[in-house]
Amino acid sequence: MPADQDASWGHRTAKNQSSAKKDELFYGYKVHEAGDAYYGVPLAGIVLPANAGDGPQLPQLRAAVRRLHPWLTPQYGIGDKAYAGQERRQHLVDHGIVPIVAAPRPRKDDKGRRLYDGIYTADGRPTCLGGEPVEYLGSDLERRHRFRCPGSGCELQRKVHWSACCDYAVWEKPAGKLLRIIGILPGFTAEWQRIYRMRTAIERYFRSGKHSRLLNRRQRQGMAKVSRHVRMSRL
Ligand SMILES: [Zn+2]
Repeated sequence: MPADQDASWGHRTAKNQSSAKKDELFYGYKVHEAGDAYYGVPLAGIVLPANAGDGPQLPQLRAAVRRLHPWLTPQYGIGDKAYAGQERRQHLVDHGIVPIVAAPRPRKDDKGRRLYDGIYTADGRPTCLGGEPVEYLGSDLERRHRFRCPGSGCELQRKVHWSACCDYAVWEKPAGKLLRIIGILPGFTAEWQRIYRMRTAIERYFRSGKHSRLLNRRQRQGMAKVSRHVRMSRL
């Protein structure tokens, strides 16, 4: 029977990156944290037993930030793949936050094709009638995205010689599934990349938490003591 009854078993990235195993098991807690990516300041966090997943904590985490910093109106919500689900993105959108969340590679179907093949490319571009990824022209005030067949022409043009391209053009509204596939700020834009890179701020916080505050060592037992250690570290 483990000494600390509040904790549980969880996975973390192996310390030794060269080892074949990517994950290692540990017994303890996990800190779910939200920070200000611009200033690199931690804002709020939740301590849970190590088996709690990251994604499901998003509503609670967002509410905690709101409660502690009611004057903050975050424009973007940056998250790694753990927050990739459509539900999490919708939660951010419902609170006026543009999700900048890493997308896992689309799943393959039983024929081995990527899930969006034929309709959307893996990076979220629709494809035209000739099967070519379309060009992104921009977005309007309602955040609808305009795409059209690349001017250089597509497969259809090579078959039908009188036209330079298939003239395919489309507006896409990033709602529902398209929130995940394309996004409010499309994942293939330089702007998306620029904002996503700011996520490293939280990694810096975690690193200093481990090195300066020894958050990765199990020195305390019980949820109350561990939570207090984490709160003091955040301060
Ligand atoms: Zn085309």
